[in-house]
Amino acid sequence: MHRGSCLCGGIRYSVNCDLDFIVNCHCQYCRIAHGSEFVPVAVIAADKLEILEGNELLSRFEVSNVAAFRCFCSTCGTRLYNHSPAANMISLVVATLMETADLVPKANVNMESSNRCFIQTNGLPSFDTFPSADEREKL
Ligand SMILES: [Zn+2]
Ligand SMILES: [Zn+2]
Repeated sequence: MHRGSCLCGGIRYSVNCDLDFIVNCHCQYCRIAHGSEFVPVAVIAADKLEILEGNELLSRFEVSNVAAFRCFCSTCGTRLYNHSPAANMISLVVATLMETADLVPKANVNMESSNRCFIQTNGLPSFDTFPSADEREKL
């Protein structure tokens, strides 16, 4: 069980699965939305995330060309996760978790839209897009 919250504490969540697939996302949407050159996210099945408190504070911005929702706190602006309903997948923003000491990224993803001036691969495998299920198995 993992727990996390936004900066103001209005939204609290729990995750009921292992966070064993963490990637540094370099896509243009993460970069702009977070104001950061890449964003570590834990990829989980959508039904493993439970909003414990503050569901009414959760805002969703739809990135229409990728059919995904960026979910953030309407009070403090913290970006908590991205939801892709078609893939039944959530990319949880690692920085919002309470305990991160044991969490390690496995790869850099979506490098094709990364900001080349700021690339830091940290010696991790890098993928132009999001790795396929086969590619993820091998990481
Ligand atoms: Zn908040
Ligand atoms: Zn991204």
